Amino acid sequence: MMKIPFLDLAAQYESLKPEFDSAIQSVCANTSFILGPEVSAFEHDFASFIESKHCVGLASGTDALRLAFEALQISSGDEVIVPANTFVATAIGALEAGATAVPVDIDPDTFLMDYKQLETARSSRTKAICPVHLYGRACDMDQVMDFAKQHNLAVIEDTAQAHGARWHGRRVGTFGAIGCFSFYPGKNLGAFGDAGGIVTDDDHLSQQVRKLRNYGSEIKYHHPERGINSRLDSIQAAVLSIKLKHLERWNQQRWKAAELYRSHLEDLQSDEFVLPDILTPEQHVFHLFVIQVKDRARIEKELMEQGVGTVKHYPIPFHLQDGYKDLGYTEGDFPITEQLASRILSLPIFPGITEEQIAYVSGCLRKSLR
Ligand SMILES: *Cc1c(COP(=O)(O)O)cnc(C)c1O
Repeated sequence: MMKIPFLDLAAQYESLKPEFDSAIQSVCANTSFILGPEVSAFEHDFASFIESKHCVGLASGTDALRLAFEALQISSGDEVIVPANTFVATAIGALEAGATAVPVDIDPDTFLMDYKQLETARSSRTKAICPVHLYGRACDMDQVMDFAKQHNLAVIEDTAQAHGARWHGRRVGTFGAIGCFSFYPGKNLGAFGDAGGIVTDDDHLSQQVRKLRNYGSEIKYHHPERGINSRLDSIQAAVLSIKLKHLERWNQQRWKAAELYRSHLEDLQSDEFVLPDILTPEQHVFHLFVIQVKDRARIEKELMEQGVGTVKHYPIPFHLQDGYKDLGYTEGDFPITEQLASRILSLPIFPGITEEQIAYVSGCLRKSLR
């Protein structure tokens, strides 16, 4: 029996270990722990990778969302449209800024925000849309931007799962006013701890987020506005700069792995087993490879018994979580998202996953589906 964890970051670490070790030692030796030169260097590198004018490094992706809304002065009484199918942090970002998160259901074929429902979700209080490029798949930014322009809404992109993906040639995260990234260890570009950042072409917004992440201050002990402490630290920045050089290649490996899964399993597709669309390596950077299965509990268990790790992204949508009861939603409000939550299963996918491992996982799944 093989053992294939859902996510294996060890090989990636081992392959670059001397570089990491020396970069971390250098931060320690320079004692440049907070906002050191490593942070500005990474901000510069990441902005240029994303093809955006500015990047501001932050402590997490959740803070990136929160500070994006705050920089745009979206707050109490304002509404932000978010997809119902997302990681809870998308909603936390809007709520922390003081606004309300208004979910829309998703398109069952793409798992992404259903653009046709934006009009239903819109009210006189709507100030922004927050499309999420979930699982690594680029949203249709033509649809999002058209709707936003028509109704004068800001667009804040949640790009936490789609570092490097493109929509019609342009990097996601650069369409709206601000793109929000997480560098949580398991993301396509991940640090050795919590980290995040925003990108924007707008000088003023970049300056605002820069201030807000540092106690609302540009000049030490002068606080023209209230901020928080949410800085990317220098050790994480140094690690991220090293990894960034390999991101494009790692994204290619993810896409190849997805394509291979598909070629192994395509013939089994039915109402009870659905594979994700492969699209192009540009449009989908496969942060996650999410299948839909009818008999999920059994399949999950059988895969585990054969040494295959799986995860559910996400088993309970945020509108049905106890922590979000006050938003006032109940079961049945977003039926596609809810139905999907009971069927989705993420298979192992990470840079460096081998053809042999993919063949083994596919073989186990084939047995279970029979
Ligand atoms: C990971 C993630 C976040 C939050 O990022 P953190 O760095 O964990 O705070 C936000 N949105 C989505 C879609 C994510 O996957």
